[in-house]
Amino acid sequence: MFESITQGLQGALTGIFRSGKLTEANIREGLKQVRQALLEADVEYNVATQFIEKVTAEAVGEKVLKSLRPDEQLIGIVHQQLIALMGPTDHSLHLRRDGINKIMMCGLQGAGKTTTCGKLARKLKAEGWKPLLVAADMQRPAAIEQLKTLGQQLDVPVYAEAPGGNPVAVCKNGLAHAKTAGANVVIFDTAGRLHVDDRLMFELEQIDSRVQPDQVYLVCDAMTGQDAVRSAKAFNDALELDGVILTKLDGDTRGGAAISVKQVTGVPIKFVGMGEQLDRLEPFHPDRMAGRILG
Ligand code: GDP
Repeated sequence: MFESITQGLQGALTGIFRSGKLTEANIREGLKQVRQALLEADVEYNVATQFIEKVTAEAVGEKVLKSLRPDEQLIGIVHQQLIALMGPTDHSLHLRRDGINKIMMCGLQGAGKTTTCGKLARKLKAEGWKPLLVAADMQRPAAIEQLKTLGQQLDVPVYAEAPGGNPVAVCKNGLAHAKTAGANVVIFDTAGRLHVDDRLMFELEQIDSRVQPDQVYLVCDAMTGQDAVRSAKAFNDALELDGVILTKLDGDTRGGAAISVKQVTGVPIKFVGMGEQLDRLEPFHPDRMAGRILG
């Protein structure tokens, strides 16, 4: 995982140290290669550039040039800046014990949104909450049945209506159902599309304004690189996200999305999907991710 960032950084740093004498010029040259490695790993252009500016500013200071182990010092700076880019750590779902908590899940089709709704419901149930899943994805024909199946597996109730209905009405009706069913966390599985478009955003904005969710989370496929970043920006502009869940980090992804999605949206990455199974949801740890990126 993240081979290209790791190899790029390691290659660049090894190049610096092999030259023997550490000077401001070869730190700058080496960090150019780091920037290239980040770009190749699908880190967004501006994010990569700003990252390198920060690291350079710290590294060319007296601190690195005069330190006994400049290589360790420089790796330390890169590591710390990577953590800073992806952090701070924030796994809280901000749930209240009184009333009904409303969590709206959104994302492009295939990102893993419905699966992640199930994973979240499983986690909440295990923590003693009473989740209800609401099937508001009227776009993907199989989504309603998929959510019902997940609900059965987890023994979590699912509110669903016939396909083709109005998603805003489904959400409102689902919320009313939660009150009678005694649920205290409602998870709305909203529609996705293959690409961000005006109709999708309009539908999500309607749900957002009529249902007034407490938390809006974007489910984002880490395998999709720059597309993940572009769509995260579009969703955040339209909905003011509260967090991101990055899926498919168990796959052979280059990992640039973890860095730039956080930077582009400014909201925390809360969890990561580490597999298709419902128990494969893990808290996101910027320090661990930075360690992994550096190798
Ligand atoms: P949706 O269209 O966004 O609702 O996407 P789905 O929930 O149907 O997921 C699309 C595909 O991605 C399914 O085959 C899921 O099993 C798979 N998937 C979801 N999350 C993960 C994950 O974290 N890792 C892997 N490997 N696959 C995932």
